Amino acid sequence: MTLQSPLTTLTGVGDKVADKLAVLGLFKVEDLIYYYPRRYEDYTNPRLINQLVIGQEQIIKAEILEISNDISARQRIKITKAQVSDQSGSINLVWFNQPFLPQTLKVGTSWLFSGKLERDFQGKLTMVSPKIERDARILPVYGETIGLSSKIIRKLIFQIRHLIHDYADWLEDDALTQNNLIAINQALEIIHFPDSIAQISSAKRRLAFDEIFILLVKINRLKLDLSKTNSPVCKGNLPQLKSFIKSLPFKLTDSQRLASWEIIKDLALTNPMNRLLEGDVGSGKTIVGLIAALTVIQSGFKVVWMAPTEILARQHWESCERFLSNLNIKCALLTSATTKKIALNLSQFDLVIGTQAVIQDKVHFQNLGLIIVDEQHRFGVKQRNKLIENQSITPHFLAMTATPIPRTLALTIYGDLSISALRSIPTGRLPIISRLINQQNRIEAYNLIRAEIKKGRQAFVVCPLIDETNKELLESANSQLDFEIIEKKAAVTEYEKLAKHIFPDLKVGLIHGKLKSAEKELVMSKFASGQLDILVATAVIEVGIDIPNASVMMIENADRFGLAQLHQFRGRVGRGIHQSYCFVFTETQNPNGLERLQAFTSSNSGFDLAELDLKLRGPGQMTGLIQAGLTDLKLASLNDIDLIRQAKALLDSLAKSRGPSLTKIMNKIQESDQLAQLG
Ligand code: ADP
Ligand code: MG
Repeated sequence: MTLQSPLTTLTGVGDKVADKLAVLGLFKVEDLIYYYPRRYEDYTNPRLINQLVIGQEQIIKAEILEISNDISARQRIKITKAQVSDQSGSINLVWFNQPFLPQTLKVGTSWLFSGKLERDFQGKLTMVSPKIERDARILPVYGETIGLSSKIIRKLIFQIRHLIHDYADWLEDDALTQNNLIAINQALEIIHFPDSIAQISSAKRRLAFDEIFILLVKINRLKLDLSKTNSPVCKGNLPQLKSFIKSLPFKLTDSQRLASWEIIKDLALTNPMNRLLEGDVGSGKTIVGLIAALTVIQSGFKVVWMAPTEILARQHWESCERFLSNLNIKCALLTSATTKKIALNLSQFDLVIGTQAVIQDKVHFQNLGLIIVDEQHRFGVKQRNKLIENQSITPHFLAMTATPIPRTLALTIYGDLSISALRSIPTGRLPIISRLINQQNRIEAYNLIRAEIKKGRQAFVVCPLIDETNKELLESANSQLDFEIIEKKAAVTEYEKLAKHIFPDLKVGLIHGKLKSAEKELVMSKFASGQLDILVATAVIEVGIDIPNASVMMIENADRFGLAQLHQFRGRVGRGIHQSYCFVFTETQNPNGLERLQAFTSSNSGFDLAELDLKLRGPGQMTGLIQAGLTDLKLASLNDIDLIRQAKALLDSLAKSRGPSLTKIMNKIQESDQLAQLG
């Protein structure tokens, strides 16, 4: 047996068990080694019976005083009842349908029991169905699936304990001591078979270090690969570009000017640009993207611009038509509806704007010079590579995001990744007024919305999954499709409430992800032209929509969203000359949830909110650029800046010395990447 052996080599793993292991993403022996416990049950430190707390999961060590089987009169369930005691007192234990228990749990023997303490109907203290252990040890609890318990997983891992023991470290002893890390085999041994709770943290630290280190190596390799590949050299046409900028209805902000210049310089190089343009909602990223596109088109290459939704793709296309039309540049809108028509004569267009449909297999681009990805967190790295793979030279790449990478993270992980930031919002806009709305001031908020609409403004209402039934559904949802259906249900409920009961006199519309794209477009164009006063939406509305007349954003159950996402929603208003409002509704009593929302209403800076989100919720909301690598982080947290710094320093020094360990690590990563591609 080796690390690469399939799990069916283990005793007790037939096809059935193998299928269940596959559900957990476990296929070969090494996968199992890296399947870490979710938590531990500590049987080494039982509580005294007289110190037990009702309602909590606890462990006791007690002797059996009495034990017997019984059959419940009504339900014909076999009940085993026991009375147990330690030096401090006694309680009852109850199990159902385990009539064989008295054969093992003999009177006078001592056992460890783990369970929740409750009062039975007679008021006696009872543990119902406690788990039974003989040895005072620490038991790891793994992520389970139906028919595959932690107990089974523990047995499987026990079978490969010798492989864990022999697991080769890729870091030299020196590196370990310098970074205060324990050896990898030791760490893996502890994580699966700990002797004490205290030693687990050093194991986690070592394994977390490796995760971050590998992430950094991958990023590094990507950069290295890029620096070796050729790209289209796009020198553009500076005088023409200048007159284009002059023709715009507004003056570029200083940061737009700077970002554009950084991009133009990159485009003229022989290596592909890989740049992230981050800028708060409404900071004017689109025009910077257009300047980049224009430069590339002027140099004789094509540009692809990917938007996360069709609505947004259409909007970009409209701005391109508006701004670029007199330059004789041909823009195509490529959506699921138009793909067939346009894909046939793609070559006649300079700029193609679209959604994921763009990257479907049928569509092949010739002479691609630049890929722009707007709000990339909805795109996978895989799709991006798919676009690139047909090209003889590697196109430049520009990602635009309003979900900025927090400064701390950008500095540590990306130290030298190309990032341009739009730090200022075009002048002349009024800051949005944000307020937290609870049950008491809900009516007041509705009144304000009505008053705004009477003034001629419009309102968005965003709702996540509202009621309890939805929540259950959500937990069982296992695909994007299920998720959209549930989202739709929430939006429909909210729509009916508003249209029928709250604003029966106003025109309310509804948009959600399950609508056909023609239907979506119809609703959006009605809203854009003012035929609707209020638009109820799911998170569909999240990115980019530009309706300057909308002045109210109302978000239901706001506590369900991350701060960055809330900020995105808020960015849908305040885009015109009108004073705008963002009302975040919540019924949560959770102090953390309230604190987050309070922070949201008192800050208008996406950068600050992203930083706070990172602190409060972890990196879940980050842009896809990092997200891709982050799925590999199981124990590490990007909040652990010190660990990241250490890993970065080690990588830098290994890269400088070109020692054997870096090659070893590279090989290891290569291996796991190849496997990931197969899977
Ligand atoms: P985002 O960064 O969120 O993508 P957009 O590019 O959609 O922002 O720009 C938001 C709005 O601001 C658009 O209506 C755009 O035309 C306008 N805009 C962009 N740059 C400027 C500027 N320098 N001065 C005034 N308005 C601008
Ligand atoms: Mg945008």
